[in-house]
Amino acid sequence: MAELASIKQTHFNVFDVHTHAFPDKLAASAIPKLEAGALWFPCRAYYDGTVGGLVASMDRAGIRRAIVASIATRPEQVPKITDWSASVASDRVVPFASIHPDYAQPEAEVERIAAAGLRGIKFHPYYAECPVDDPRVIRIARAAAAAGLAMLFHAGYDLAYEKDECASPRRVRRLHEAVPDLRMVAAHTGGWERWQEVYETLVGLPIYLETSFTLGRCPEELLLKILAKHPPEYLLFGTDGPWTDQREELRKFLALAIDEGLKRRILWENALRLVKLTA
Ligand SMILES: [Zn+2]
Repeated sequence: MAELASIKQTHFNVFDVHTHAFPDKLAASAIPKLEAGALWFPCRAYYDGTVGGLVASMDRAGIRRAIVASIATRPEQVPKITDWSASVASDRVVPFASIHPDYAQPEAEVERIAAAGLRGIKFHPYYAECPVDDPRVIRIARAAAAAGLAMLFHAGYDLAYEKDECASPRRVRRLHEAVPDLRMVAAHTGGWERWQEVYETLVGLPIYLETSFTLGRCPEELLLKILAKHPPEYLLFGTDGPWTDQREELRKFLALAIDEGLKRRILWENALRLVKLTA
């Protein structure tokens, strides 16, 4: 089986816009805690939560580059996450830093994130206990847009929490309307387990949608409708590794009944534009 796993699945360059990794010292304790937090169905990690583990998983899957998204759950973590993100940036790994809504000087930290050469910021409304269209998030989003940074937002329900409206497609839309010049990604194809609402409220807007935790979960007919109707330059491929198997997610994506040109844009070209890389 080892040889089988090394067979390249595709001739496309692949950019996974949604993965996670932790500092090596934290990974061993963080991963089991997060695994135990899944409420909706059992969830396990497919790599050890380190950057090295992620890159090995990318190699197995045939993924050239990945965004690694961090989530600050307390304000005091913010500068440490920026520093760690800058320390792990490479040709393979594009880290997104994180700003907690209660962080006192978000504009100054956004400047520091941009000055470090980082490309974006992740925001997770459930972990931050703050709706995605809250004035504090709008403030961070305005600063990010002014600094040329992208933002990745968890959207929809979350496997680790009871159902809540904090990241609903409607709120995602309100944030976009408040900060229209922000390059924003709504994760999980715009709203995990809320795809009919995505189709009704987000499709057609200049908001990037990425596929993590959608393939095999969103009814295929609805997913194909979303992919057909959304602007093709605003679609992205993501896996949410380690919480899915990157190789298997890419296999499922490649099997979708969409044309090759659209696959190329989703797997690579749109992601380059999102993070302002040229190759
Ligand atoms: Zn995630």
